[in-house]
Amino acid sequence: MNTVNTDTGKNLQTDEEELRISQRRAEMRRIKREKERRKKRNLIISSCIAWSLVIILAAALIIVVRAKSVGSGGGDAKDGGKTAKAADSVPLKKSKGDSAEDLKMFEENETQETGGESEAVPQPKNEFASFYYYEEDKQDRYEAYQELNPEMDPGDVVWRVNAYLDKPWYEYDVPVDTYDDPLMIVNKYYTVPDGYRPPDLVSIDGYEMRKETGDAYLELKAAAKAAGKRIRAVSAYRSVDYQKGLYNRYLSSDSKENVDRYSARPGHSEHHTGMAIDLFGSTDGLRNFINTPEGPWVREHCWEYGFIIRYTADIEGITGYEDEPWHIRYVGKEVSMDMKEKGIESFEEYHVKYIEHSPDEK
Ligand SMILES: [Zn+2]
Repeated sequence: MNTVNTDTGKNLQTDEEELRISQRRAEMRRIKREKERRKKRNLIISSCIAWSLVIILAAALIIVVRAKSVGSGGGDAKDGGKTAKAADSVPLKKSKGDSAEDLKMFEENETQETGGESEAVPQPKNEFASFYYYEEDKQDRYEAYQELNPEMDPGDVVWRVNAYLDKPWYEYDVPVDTYDDPLMIVNKYYTVPDGYRPPDLVSIDGYEMRKETGDAYLELKAAAKAAGKRIRAVSAYRSVDYQKGLYNRYLSSDSKENVDRYSARPGHSEHHTGMAIDLFGSTDGLRNFINTPEGPWVREHCWEYGFIIRYTADIEGITGYEDEPWHIRYVGKEVSMDMKEKGIESFEEYHVKYIEHSPDEK
């Protein structure tokens, strides 16, 4: 009985234990399942984070690659402006797709469009820069002068601006820096200082002029004589002081506007160079000169002896002086004949194109 009882008791005990054990096992299984669920959830979360990072990195990589390919597509530094322009349009065109093929196609399109663009809308800078006498630092002035003179040939714009013709007469003094140069230019921009006196002045016919000018003048005079003409010098070198007196004398009986058309302001007279001569013909008077047989003869032949008629009606807009058939300027035979051959009438134009610059530059 006892045993049974004991056994029964034992059995009861065992049953309770078994129940506890099974409960504990169930509990452990539940905990295990819970742990696995948590593990799974964590795994999902961390993989989500990892993928997000991968996607962000990939996007960043695409942006960098695209930026690099656009930056290197434009070529050398000269194309900087155009490349920047093309780069501005990247987001619009590139939004279709990101594949390497798309990128390649885009680059090809970009190259074609950039080329086409430069043909369709020529840059004003290139228009001026194609002339060998173009000066880069004057670009803004070329553009402004072209805007004021839309019909003017760009080549004319360039030499005229180089000759300061975009500036008002007498309001923009440029000191002559080559005083003794036989090809020096003096006009309503280029000026010599007070007290300037050219070297090697000689006296011919009672007037001072530079030696080479004097020799050429004597040749011209002899040729005129041989053709039955009679010319004589009535003015050559003048000092700045002398010009002051002359100009002021004219001003006492005429308006400044008028005087400026026939008399130079002191410092601006070509007579300061000792290479300009005023002529009388067989009858006296400067204004009468063209009506004497000598006037037309000098106009036709002076270039053969190294002289040019410096002021003619055609170029009054350039020189600022009315027609002066009596005023000749010595430039040397080489230059006078070259001007004749090239059909260049103003020394201003010739000076820019063949003295300050040379076609050999380009
Ligand atoms: Zn003169």
